[in-house]
Amino acid sequence: MSFWQEKSLSEMTNEEWESLCDGCARCCLLKLQDDEEIRYTSIVCKFLEQESCRCGDYKNRSRLVPTCLHLQSSEIPEWLPTSCAYRRINEGLDLEWWHPLVSGSQDTVHEAGISVRGRVTSESHVHPQEVEEQTIKWIEF
Ligand code: SF4
Ligand code: SF4
Repeated sequence: MSFWQEKSLSEMTNEEWESLCDGCARCCLLKLQDDEEIRYTSIVCKFLEQESCRCGDYKNRSRLVPTCLHLQSSEIPEWLPTSCAYRRINEGLDLEWWHPLVSGSQDTVHEAGISVRGRVTSESHVHPQEVEEQTIKWIEF
């Protein structure tokens, strides 16, 4: 059995915890929230390196972007996509075939169409008044 099949999120080492992130960058998408729902947009944080789908300044992300998600095992938000490894493990599910820990490749999350690569726009190029028009439906949560 692999560590994610044996351990709960709170039992994982820091290295195991970090490796659980599949690199999809869906949590780096801007979201709109009203009283009824949260909606994802196709606009992504300006610090995301879109080709790799990795944060351009991971170490300083909380200071640079106060709203940046800082996941903790005690609180896995319901708005995370159903594909998110942290959410899946928290709900007792296994990882999907395309997760790098399962496939052994960092490319499968892109090949499977899970990552945001190729279908998002940086917030640097979008006027705030246009955010509302960019709502997407390809993420389930
Ligand atoms: S949605 Fe989950 S798996 Fe994907 S980048 Fe964010 S934390 Fe990692
Ligand atoms: S600061 Fe980095 S991790 Fe946080 S939302 Fe932006 S790109 Fe994603």
